[in-house]
Amino acid sequence: MEGTKKGLFKAYLDFNVLYKILIGLVIGAIAGIILAASGVTALPAWISMFGTIFTRLLKMIIIPIIVGSLVVGASSVSPANVGKVGIRVVLIYLATSAIGVIIGLLLANIFQPHAELADAVAKAAAAAGKDGSTNVWKVIYEIVPTSVLSSLVNETVLQVIFFTLLFGLCLSFLKISKDERIAKAAQTTYEVFDCLTEIMMKIVRGIMQYAPIGVAVLIAEVFAKNGAQIAGALVTVTVACFIGYAIHIVLVYGGLLKIFGIKIKPFFKEARTPFVTAFVTRSSNGTLPTTMAAAENLGVDKEVYAFSLPLGATINMDGTAIYQGVCTFFLVMTVYGRGLYFGEMAMITLLATLASIGTAGVPGAGAIMLAMVMQGIGMPIEPATNIAGAYALILGIDAILDMGRTALNVTGDLTCTTCIAKKLGFLREDSVLLK
Ligand code: ASP
Repeated sequence: MEGTKKGLFKAYLDFNVLYKILIGLVIGAIAGIILAASGVTALPAWISMFGTIFTRLLKMIIIPIIVGSLVVGASSVSPANVGKVGIRVVLIYLATSAIGVIIGLLLANIFQPHAELADAVAKAAAAAGKDGSTNVWKVIYEIVPTSVLSSLVNETVLQVIFFTLLFGLCLSFLKISKDERIAKAAQTTYEVFDCLTEIMMKIVRGIMQYAPIGVAVLIAEVFAKNGAQIAGALVTVTVACFIGYAIHIVLVYGGLLKIFGIKIKPFFKEARTPFVTAFVTRSSNGTLPTTMAAAENLGVDKEVYAFSLPLGATINMDGTAIYQGVCTFFLVMTVYGRGLYFGEMAMITLLATLASIGTAGVPGAGAIMLAMVMQGIGMPIEPATNIAGAYALILGIDAILDMGRTALNVTGDLTCTTCIAKKLGFLREDSVLLK
C-alpha cells in the first residue's frame, strides 16, 4: 500500500507539469459545469481554499524572483563583453520585445478577448473611478524609489526592478575590479544571488506541481458561477496570441533580415530546427544547443553567438512579450469590463519589456511574469477575486500559448544575433546568407 502511494506520487511528479495544468483546467471546467447545471454556484469554503492557496503562493514568489533573476541577469554580462557587440545586441533585444508587446496590445484591441464573468459589472463600477489619465511625468519619476525597503515591502514592481538592475550592473563592474578583495567579495555576492535565484526557481517548480490542483479549483469556481460560454474566450486569446507570433516573424524578423541584407530563405531553413525544438520543449534554455548549432551553420562567428545566444535565451522574449500584451488586456477586460487606457498600455509595454529580462527561459516562466506585470499596473492577482479566476483560465491554456511564444523567443535570438553579426562583420565569408 505504502509502495503504491509512493508510486502514484512519483508518477504525478514525473508527468509533464503543463499537461497536468491542462488536465486541471478540463477537470475544473467539467466539475464547474456540472455544479452550475445542478444549481450550485459557489464551492464549499474548504475546497475554495485550495485555489486561494495557489494565488497566495504566486503572489509570494513574485518579488523574490524579480530580485534574484534580475541581479543575476544584469551582473552576468561582463562589462568587457558589453563592448560594441553587447550594447547593440541588448538594444535590439529590448526593441524587438517592446514591439512584441505593442503587437500583442494591438491585436488584443482588435480581438477584444474577454470572458463575461458573473459579477464583473460590480467590479467595472468600482474601477470606473480610475480614469486612466495618469500623469506621465509622475509615472516616470516614481520609478526611482525613495526607500528601497518600502518598495520591497509595498511590492512596487517598477521601483524594485529599477534598483535591482542598478545593483546587478554595479555588481558586474565590481566583479572585474582590480582590487582583489572587492572582486572576490563581488564574486561571492554574485554566487549568493545565483544560489538564491536557484532556490526561488525550485520553489516555483514546486508551486507549479501544485498548480493543477489550484487551477482545477479556481476554474471550477469560474465555470460554476458563469457557465460554459466563457470557454470561447480562451479560443480568442489563443488565436490572438498566435496571429501575433506570426505577424512578428513576418514583419519584424523578415523586416530586420531585409534591412540588414540577409537572405531570408536560407536563414529560415536553418532556423526551422531551433523553432521546432523550442515549440516542443517550451524552453529557450533547453533549445540553446540547437540554436547555437543553427548560428554556426549560418556562418555566424562563435565569438558573437557564444555570447549573444545565451544572453538572448535569458533576456530576449518577444513571444512572451506578445503574450503579455494579449493576456493583460484579457484580464482587465474580463474583470473590469473595459479595455486598457493609454497610460496603462504604455506602462505594460515598459513593464513587459523589463519583465522579459527577468523571465527565465524555462517552461511556464512567462505566466509568473504576467502576474508581475498585473501587479505593476496596480491590479494584482488577489486571492479569492475575479482576477484570480480569470488568471487561472489563462494558466489553464498556458501549455499551448507557451509553445508558440518559446518558438518565437528562440527565433528572435537567432535573428538579432545574425543581424548584428552581419552588421559588424562577424559573418563568415562562406556563409549561406551571403551567397
Ligand atoms: N517558455 C519560455 C521560454 O523558455 C518563457 C515563457 O514562459 O514565456 O522562452
